Amino acid sequence: MNAEKSGNNVLAGNAKMVSRRDTEREVRSWIERNRTLIADTVSDLIRIPSVNHGLTGDEQNCQLHVAGMLRELGLRVDVFTPDEVEGLARHPAYYPGKNYADRPNVVGIWSGAGNGRSLLFSSHADTAVAATDWIRDPWRPEREGDRLYGLGSFDMKAGLAASALAVRCLKELGVRPLGDVIVESVVDEEFGGANGTLAARARGYQADGAVIPEPTNMAVCTATRGGALWKAAFAGTGGMSFSGETVHNPVIDAAQFIVFLHWYEQTRNAARPVHPSYADSPELPVIVTRVMAGDLSAPICDSGPVTCTVEFWAECHPGLTEQQFKEELAQRFSEWSSAQNGPKTAFPELTGMIRFLPGAETPSDSPLTAVLAQAVGRATGSEAIVRGAPFACDAFVFNLYSPTPAVVLGPRGANAHAPDEYVELSSLGELVEAYALAIMDWCGYDKPERSCSEG
Ligand SMILES: [Zn+2]
Repeated sequence: MNAEKSGNNVLAGNAKMVSRRDTEREVRSWIERNRTLIADTVSDLIRIPSVNHGLTGDEQNCQLHVAGMLRELGLRVDVFTPDEVEGLARHPAYYPGKNYADRPNVVGIWSGAGNGRSLLFSSHADTAVAATDWIRDPWRPEREGDRLYGLGSFDMKAGLAASALAVRCLKELGVRPLGDVIVESVVDEEFGGANGTLAARARGYQADGAVIPEPTNMAVCTATRGGALWKAAFAGTGGMSFSGETVHNPVIDAAQFIVFLHWYEQTRNAARPVHPSYADSPELPVIVTRVMAGDLSAPICDSGPVTCTVEFWAECHPGLTEQQFKEELAQRFSEWSSAQNGPKTAFPELTGMIRFLPGAETPSDSPLTAVLAQAVGRATGSEAIVRGAPFACDAFVFNLYSPTPAVVLGPRGANAHAPDEYVELSSLGELVEAYALAIMDWCGYDKPERSCSEG
């Protein structure tokens, strides 16, 4: 597959070309020589806070650092805020209400030397808010064995660094891709932002294929889950019943709803066929994230609350719309409710706390998937795992709203959105190698002899 543009390098004029096998060997040896640089590049990004606060974000300094890094690589760099992009607010996938002051997107373009296919790496620079209970300082990178700890290390500053480092590796080796290579770092992905990614598409950056370096533990992920963060509100009557008033405590209704959510999470997959990309891990999380009732500001609360709210995150497989997802929940609630004894709670109204993130996919037998799987196989020495990603992300912007098919591929690690997040440095070396090989295979390349200064 892709034989016309993969494997053999294309001759430029009469220059003698380095063989594919030798080039691949040089890529690996570049990574061996640059392990410190690879770790330092991620550490530098961790040190610059870029927290997304929901409506605002602190990405600016980190993004200016990324822009400088891409300029140093000789890329043509475009820096723009989402609200500078003409027509973005009218896009059907635009989510209103965010503030983009001092939140620039950064796009770096390495123009191809010929007519190869273009490849775009799309990362986000923002991180989740630092979870409470970090043992370490979230913004002070710490190495421990193979682990590099820090907020955003895994999600997804390591992946962002890897895409820039793959370009650096190929440039230093004198490899010239025939198609364009685009490295972008967008703002506002966390909290279902996605406007940053959308803004880069609306600005005109499309490609023949995109890699999203979100953390996948080196799996090649052709699908992403959908996700919703909903609030369910329950109303009652408060007080202490001094005159015999009926106290209807909304916490009891909320408690029933939480028990239902747990039952729904455990039984939902039995009720319908599993999406083929998720056949080996069909479980879908439903996570109660916050429950609120009563006067939390008073030192003591001695009266029943009038309202109780339950916030929860729920995921779905690709193909479900927000409305269908809500209807499924209501339907399952009515099944659950009819099997319960005693007073029944009505299904609550669900209010979205963030945008609904639709699940999305690109064909698992596409040429892009094949090129990435081969690259991962060669970089890791074992056959690549191809499956659906166990999370929702802004891959849907590409796969539902752009002509650019996107596949998610990122490093190994753990604790995204949790205390003591880390990335495994060994996987980062593999990732830089896999990205470099994927650029060579997907875009085509040439590499004249003696054009490299190293290796
Ligand atoms: Zn992420």
